[in-house]
Amino acid sequence: MEGFFSKKEIQSITALDGKVRSCYSCGLYVWAKTPKMKPYGNFRKRIMNIAEAPGETEDLHGKPFQGKAGKLLQKTYKKLGIDLFEDCINLNAVNCRPISKTGSNRTPTNYEIECCRKSVFQYIEKYKPHTIVLLGSSAIQSILNHRWKKDFGGISKWRGWAIPDQSLRAWICPVFHPSFILRYESCEYVNLWEDDLMKAFETVNMEFPVVTEPNIKIITDLNILNEIQSGVVSIDFETTGLKPYKYTDHRIVSASVATDENTAYVFKMPNKRSEMQPFKKLLANPNVRKSAHNIKFEDVWSKIYLDTTIRGWLWDSMQAAHIIDNRSHITGLKFQTYVNFGIIDYSSEINKYLQSVDEKNGNSVNRIDELISTESGLQKLLKYNALDTIYQYRLSNKQMKLFA
Ligand code: URA
Repeated sequence: MEGFFSKKEIQSITALDGKVRSCYSCGLYVWAKTPKMKPYGNFRKRIMNIAEAPGETEDLHGKPFQGKAGKLLQKTYKKLGIDLFEDCINLNAVNCRPISKTGSNRTPTNYEIECCRKSVFQYIEKYKPHTIVLLGSSAIQSILNHRWKKDFGGISKWRGWAIPDQSLRAWICPVFHPSFILRYESCEYVNLWEDDLMKAFETVNMEFPVVTEPNIKIITDLNILNEIQSGVVSIDFETTGLKPYKYTDHRIVSASVATDENTAYVFKMPNKRSEMQPFKKLLANPNVRKSAHNIKFEDVWSKIYLDTTIRGWLWDSMQAAHIIDNRSHITGLKFQTYVNFGIIDYSSEINKYLQSVDEKNGNSVNRIDELISTESGLQKLLKYNALDTIYQYRLSNKQMKLFA
């Protein structure tokens, strides 16, 4: 069996958890008639379809999408103007057939998906697709789970987005797997599936949007904020906890003000109340319109900690996200930033410091003081705070265009 693989392919990949990921440790190739199935298709429209794993029929024929689910996919793509084998390149999250003890097809395990991830990414690197359609949970897991570790969620959270993934430089479009559609035969699912696929195919002729690097200005003298007397700003606070009421030692540690989609002024909150004055004036000025992601947070912290009522609220991008799409677990700024702008994981380094020490107690403190006890930790916090306002600004603008 060794002859099927190059030396590089069978070298073990050891993951952070110490477990080994390789074709050898996976072992599916031993039973497959077509081990390590190659991608198939002429790729005329630069669409890559990634599904789950070869079934018995695929394994026999030596190429993807030959069985019942594959036929449905061919038919549906054709209806939407795409030839599955002419316009696309087709592969699976796991490229050897997973076989059960009784000899039937089975869903690949997470471990098998992890073992095959390296080769899937090598194919993305090789083909450089413009659009990647992820058919079902296994494909979504293969492409996203190692980059989106927390609150990953299921297919119903991920399906239907067309994500301009900045690391992969491709549109990522998760949709249901065709077997799911065959299993449920529900009009509702078929309609959703076809709508999602239509949305994915629209990206074929769309230019890929490369995001620009923002201009982050770390300031110590807040008087520069006096220059902002009109327009729209995005605001965000980093604090010692979720709620400002309970303990007197809760405080706003830093704040950021984005004045457009690319510029943010960010600062550590001064210790002296008199030095906070320019910021308080900006918050109280109704001619400077404000937007935030979950405005009640900034509103209440400003009242309690800064003794300032914010005037000029214009937009809450969290509320707007919910109105645009009312699915659960999708309104967070990190998720919205990824699905709208393709920017993944800009906060994982500092996330753990922003979680409450006692998660069950909403009044509890987090570990932000530990983070800012070093200069590099403080710089990380300020950058993160600034990026929150930049992405919030971009998100609000995009949402406002939808509502216009
Ligand atoms: N055919 C494939 O190649 N993969 C699937 O996931 C289903 C059918």
